[in-house]
Amino acid sequence: MAIPDPKSHPYDVLVIGAGGAGLRAAIEARAAGATVGLVCKSLLGKAHTVMAEGGVAAALGNVAATDSWQIHFRDTMVGGKLLNHPRMAELHAQEAPARVNELERWGAVFDRTRDGRILQRPFGGHSHPRLAHVGDRTGLEMIRTLQDQAVAAGIDVFMECTVTHLTTGGGGVTGAVGYWRATGYPVVFPAKAVILATGGIGKAFEITSNSWEYSGDGQALAYEAGAELIDMEFVQFHPTGMVWPPGVRGLLVTEAVRGEGGILRNSQGERFMWKYLPEDRRAEYAATDDEASKWVTALSQGRETDARRPPELSTRDNVARAIYTEVKEGRGSPHGGVFLDISYLPADHVRRKLPSMYEQFKELADVDITAGPMEVGPTTHYVMGGIRVVPDTGATTVPGLYAAGEVAGGMHGANRLGGNSLSDLLVFGARTGAGAAAYAAAQAGDPYVDPHQVHAAEAALDAPLARTDGDDPYAIQRDLQEMMQRLVGIFRVESDLDEALTALDALRARIDGVRVVGGRAYNPGWNLAFELRNLLVVSEAITRSARQRTESRGAHSRIDFPATDDAAWGHRNSVIAKGPDGAMTTTTAPLPGMPDALRDLLGSH
Ligand SMILES: Cc1cc2nc3c(=O)[nH]c(=O)nc-3n(C[C@H](O)[C@H](O)[C@H](O)COP(=O)(O)OP(=O)(O)OC[C@H]3O[C@@H](n4cnc5c(N)ncnc54)[C@H](O)[C@@H]3O)c2cc1C
Repeated sequence: MAIPDPKSHPYDVLVIGAGGAGLRAAIEARAAGATVGLVCKSLLGKAHTVMAEGGVAAALGNVAATDSWQIHFRDTMVGGKLLNHPRMAELHAQEAPARVNELERWGAVFDRTRDGRILQRPFGGHSHPRLAHVGDRTGLEMIRTLQDQAVAAGIDVFMECTVTHLTTGGGGVTGAVGYWRATGYPVVFPAKAVILATGGIGKAFEITSNSWEYSGDGQALAYEAGAELIDMEFVQFHPTGMVWPPGVRGLLVTEAVRGEGGILRNSQGERFMWKYLPEDRRAEYAATDDEASKWVTALSQGRETDARRPPELSTRDNVARAIYTEVKEGRGSPHGGVFLDISYLPADHVRRKLPSMYEQFKELADVDITAGPMEVGPTTHYVMGGIRVVPDTGATTVPGLYAAGEVAGGMHGANRLGGNSLSDLLVFGARTGAGAAAYAAAQAGDPYVDPHQVHAAEAALDAPLARTDGDDPYAIQRDLQEMMQRLVGIFRVESDLDEALTALDALRARIDGVRVVGGRAYNPGWNLAFELRNLLVVSEAITRSARQRTESRGAHSRIDFPATDDAAWGHRNSVIAKGPDGAMTTTTAPLPGMPDALRDLLGSH
């Protein structure tokens, strides 16, 4: 069957990705007067943002009046082990409250305090109750609200449309090429500015809370176009995913369970988190079960308390390592996790605060979380590293190319605090939309894409379908994920990372020769063939950065370098780029300087 010539859809600003970051960027670019096209590879509303459960972090001070942007900044930097871009952390903490209040003005209905303000819940690493939330369905409310705004603003939406290539010219980006999933026909988007808002990389690992969409497309597209990726070694393994039954292994168990008072125990009934609190932070946590219990009671009654928070609310990297260690040392639960128990609280309270968790365990594991504990274990959840951007505008190192949301790096340093992603999407989505619109407004003439690049992209898309032999994409994906989980997971060591790099070379050869059976229309194997290229880029970037960083910091734990080495690494970002010979280069760059006024906020840290 003849493939029609690609239809062209020119825009001032093309936004790739319709999660929270892409939607917020599109709204802002449109408000600045740009014509905006918004592309997503599944249906509008099905991005990861909709899956977000626990809440959006913003120092509104509604539950703890003493909270402020300055304290949110400090918590974020301390949680990120001071590797965050300080300007990003500053803008994020300062602007998150305005972005959350704006969502409310646009129609989002948050849970309420008794006096009618937005309710905020505690989360790991946040020193104050800070997460605005809607039960455990916050992302759904957020995406619903943003979608309404975007559609009302007249933004063109291209659903089930996968972008596979960026086009370049004149030293910058000129647009994108992709295909419609329903027909497999190609499509071209000439654009003066392109915003990548494609999310994360979870599908590089076997056990993950992420859906099929998280294949590192934006990171790889940016890398191929000449942009830099920073800090890719920092992959967040969320401490609590489901471990059983096998079909749902990795599915997220929201941190809100611990935020509402969930207690972690091993097979011996021991509340093991007491053992794992870092000495320099121990004073921030309750000293006894009684104090932790006093904190939970006050929280459930909406009262302030002088009791300190329970040990389960330590940062994610620390809790994930603790669970991993308990299981490895033989104190795990029957299905290879540990126990998380919230059933000691009144059943109606648990069902009201955690409705999705209640249903998830009931439906999928036949466990009633109001009557007994859940089994949980670490799951690949989020990537802190990503495309290097200018904080104020979202500009990458390639002219005309912008990035926002999980695909961008710098904001979260070595470890992200829960709730700080949804606020990141809102703050930097808006800033990036404005930045890209301003850039587009300054470009003369109409957007133009070189037809030779379109033909080359079409040929690359056709190749896996045209081959008569080659490996099956699903077999390659399974081998990649198994290898990354085993060799580049929670704990890393140089010999494993070297083995991973050798394995990636072998996988590259298989991906280059991948063969897809069937036609173009709705062929998930064909889609995967393209995603494998991207997964390979991000897997190599993670492995090379992990090998280079010879210390342990935040989410990056080296068995052979267990100490945090501030002298050598405390002030350096890892940098990945495509070298002139096409091979991946790995270097470091100094962290951006921190103004004294911000440094003072960190106190002794
Ligand atoms: C289960 C779960 C619970 C979470 N809970 C919280 C929470 O409570 N609080 C919090 O702060 N964070 C939470 N997170 C993290 C947070 O949800 C994500 O980091 C965030 O939603 C990412 O938003 P985004 O806009 O960057 O990407 P997404 O929302 O994932 O959107 C990515 C978009 O890019 C599109 N796309 C990707 N590749 C292509 C391509 N090649 N062509 C076209 N389109 C493409 C996708 O179709 C999608 O529209 C959670 C994550 C998960 C998985």
